[in-house]
Amino acid sequence: MFEKAATFGIRGRAIVVVASLIVCSVLGASVTNVLRTNRILSENQRSSIEGYGASLASAIELSLAVGDVHEMKRLAGSFIELIPDVSFIVIEDQDGNLKAVETANLQSYESYVAGQLDPNEFEISRVDVDPMPSGVLFEDIGIFQGEASSSSQTVAPGTIVIAVSNRGLWAAQNAQWKALFVTLGLIMLISMPLVFIFVNGWANRLTALIKFSQYITSGDYTHAMIATKKDEIGKLVHAYEHMRVAIRERNDSEQLRQQELRDAREQAENANQAKSQFLAHMSHEIRTPINGVVGMLELLSMTKLDEKQRKQVRTATSSADSLLSLINDILDFSKIEAGHMSVESVPLDFYDIVESVAEMLAHKAMENGIELICDLGTNVPRSITGDPTKLRQVVINLVNNAIKFTSEGEVVIRVSCDARYEEGYDLRISVSDTGIGIPKEQRNRLFKSFSQVDASTTRRFGGTGLGLAISKGIVELMGGDIGISDDRDIGSEFWFTFKAGVCDEIVQPKTIFEGVLENMRAIIIDDNQTNRDIYTEALTNWGLRPEAFPDGYEALDALREAPASDPFKLAILDMQMPGMDGVQLADAIKSDNNIETPTMVMLTSMYHTADSEDLINLSLAACLQKPVRLSTLHDALAQYMSDGRQVVTRVSNPDVESDNKSLVGVNVLVAEDNSVNQMVIGELLKSVGIIVKLVDNGADAVTEATTGNYSFVLMDCEMPEVDGFEATRWIRKQELSDKNAYRIPIIALTANAIQGDRERCIDAGMDDYLTKPINAKKLFATLRNWQRVAQANKSAQAPVQSDDLDHANGETQQEQAPLGLRSEHALDSCQIDIDGALERCAGSNAVLIMVFQEFQRVTATLEEQLETLALSGDMTNLAKEAHSLKGSAANIGADQLSGFAKSLELAAKAQEQDQVNQAVQEIAAGIQSLRATLPVLIESIQRAA
Ligand code: ADP
Repeated sequence: MFEKAATFGIRGRAIVVVASLIVCSVLGASVTNVLRTNRILSENQRSSIEGYGASLASAIELSLAVGDVHEMKRLAGSFIELIPDVSFIVIEDQDGNLKAVETANLQSYESYVAGQLDPNEFEISRVDVDPMPSGVLFEDIGIFQGEASSSSQTVAPGTIVIAVSNRGLWAAQNAQWKALFVTLGLIMLISMPLVFIFVNGWANRLTALIKFSQYITSGDYTHAMIATKKDEIGKLVHAYEHMRVAIRERNDSEQLRQQELRDAREQAENANQAKSQFLAHMSHEIRTPINGVVGMLELLSMTKLDEKQRKQVRTATSSADSLLSLINDILDFSKIEAGHMSVESVPLDFYDIVESVAEMLAHKAMENGIELICDLGTNVPRSITGDPTKLRQVVINLVNNAIKFTSEGEVVIRVSCDARYEEGYDLRISVSDTGIGIPKEQRNRLFKSFSQVDASTTRRFGGTGLGLAISKGIVELMGGDIGISDDRDIGSEFWFTFKAGVCDEIVQPKTIFEGVLENMRAIIIDDNQTNRDIYTEALTNWGLRPEAFPDGYEALDALREAPASDPFKLAILDMQMPGMDGVQLADAIKSDNNIETPTMVMLTSMYHTADSEDLINLSLAACLQKPVRLSTLHDALAQYMSDGRQVVTRVSNPDVESDNKSLVGVNVLVAEDNSVNQMVIGELLKSVGIIVKLVDNGADAVTEATTGNYSFVLMDCEMPEVDGFEATRWIRKQELSDKNAYRIPIIALTANAIQGDRERCIDAGMDDYLTKPINAKKLFATLRNWQRVAQANKSAQAPVQSDDLDHANGETQQEQAPLGLRSEHALDSCQIDIDGALERCAGSNAVLIMVFQEFQRVTATLEEQLETLALSGDMTNLAKEAHSLKGSAANIGADQLSGFAKSLELAAKAQEQDQVNQAVQEIAAGIQSLRATLPVLIESIQRAA
């Protein structure tokens, strides 16, 4: 269509333009000429009439003078004959009297006489007959009239009226016009075919050129075009042809290059494939021996070692850990490089991810003497979909770096929501520190692999220089970006953004304390500005009216000045402050009569824990360890406000694992062919009291797993004959065919930490996945996790196998139960808070056993001693003994017994014999109960250790 329009356009327009030019120029020139000719004609007519009129006037002069009408008529008649188009001639004397008339067209004369002559059609000329001296006149003609005198007497003059018709003139002018149009027609007739032939020729050549260029555009370079003429179009054709040849040559070489590129890419893909396989293989090969090293070191550290040996084991363990993290980094990095890293999208609790990282790294921050602060913006959604593992990995890397490179000040994790759409969010996490910072010129290298700011930093702080490159890869997979802020004077700030999906699955735990804190006036005392900002914002959001102060002195002033009608009802105190610390401030608030003591919450670092004694002594509502989760702070406040229950939180020390009690006596089947791995896993499991059955091939694993004797299967993926995947499929098949069987959790053990392994395991029917070398904490955490699932399955399906298992092992159900349950059951009369006791022993089972044994020793004859003292009425010593028992019982977690001892102490001090006797009896029963229980506990703990 375009081509048609163009062709018509050029051709049509060219013809129209040329034709118009011809017509306009010919018409213009001719019209001007005709008009000029016509004007000349009419001027000629006028001047000839005037000329003839003058001649007639001089001819008629005499006859007019003598009144010879006949002569006048003759002269006028001959004048009419002589001059065409004269319609009539009228001769009048000087008085206007008609002397003679001669007409060629009588009608026109009559109209003249009637005054109706059309002035357009007739040209009337009046010629005066000049007056002449009469003597001269008559002399001239030889007549002497009267006295020829020299006087100047004149002959009477007259006038000649000549009427000329314009018709002749018009006819002549029309003839001019006709001649013009005929000439024009002839010119058009001759020129238009010529114009058409020329224009058509150009248009045809241009059309051919267009077609030619279309071939080139469509990539067909086979059509050549030869210029037949040397005009401009010919030159254009020539240039196009040149272009076609050049493009064809370039195209040919481009195709060749692309083919080479394709070949190269294929080769690179093959090489990459080989690299991935090599990495997978290497991963397996490297992880297996490290597995042996790490596992054996872990076992070694559990044995009795002297200080030097312990140090050596610790060094070896940390070296093995570094090696492992290096291998993990390299693997992660290779996965990203090879495009094998992928991110999943599952529902997750975003707050938990960020806050748990803060909790996990709080220890490290404390060791560096810095404050770790977590600031979750109010617009941040809690439930989202995303990849929890990868998200955690990036946050851990940034926070770890920040802590690593900061020796004083603070590290702040800030979370905000940049945008919210119907289907998701743009979230942002920044980690800022007050550490060594990064020079501007080094910043652009940071996210490149193996790049560190300078070699000396690396030597001082360690690291592979891969963390940020890996983080960048992960963040980009999550649809985000990562960078470092430019506008920091001290330290550095790393940030990353990512896209998260909307998730309704995790329902926000709705607080039961809603509204309790509404409109309450609160005071925040913390020397750290960031903390003050965070708590102020949080409290404001919860509906309180907070005011923040940087130290105790200012706060005390504010508290004193608060009006009685609107006192501060709540105080949040930081424990570690310069000048007046939290405890001193709380004390000052309590003892100041001008202050209405508010509900006080202490925020403390883990090195300065407050215990229940502090809570009681200082009347604290809660003592929370930093970094405190805002939800924990809220619930602690609200709980205390609602029912007066005090709250103490402790950040769990990752070195202290006291949760594995529930695994004691659990039967686990381990399918593993490698003897070192068998030993490591076996010993690790046994170390927490797990009963282990080892098999070294898949077939035996199937036979054993389907007996129903085991709570879990730890399945090595690569075993001879029947591998872990195959064995799992068989186990699942058999479970399906036996309707009484419950689904046994199968946890894969694999040295291959590469893409697709997890999926392969899950596809085969396994439930979870652990990579070698086995990390003891991860292993036990996974087992504990699946233990809950297994127990739920067992109780839901009540399979016979579980009972059979208990009898087959010759143990009672109670003996099989986890330690925690058993101790509670056995100690009905005098319960022991083992968690509390273990925590007081820094998580050390050995210390706990020593404490128990010491308690046994000091209470061996205590009930008799107390009875004797009570009988003798020695209240002073009785109170002393009771006080001492109160402390030691509290230490081993026998809170009830400690309570009895406290009653005895108070009764003895008050000299209340009856109450003393009652308390002594209660204590005796408690001690006896403990005497039966403690050996069982000690034995269990020894077995576990
Ligand atoms: P590494 O494992 O060596 O820490 P990263 O990729 O995580 O590797 O970090 C690369 C380098 O960036 C570090 O070696 C350090 O020089 C610099 N860096 C990272 N984070 C910080 C920070 N918060 N403060 C100062 N320097 C940092």
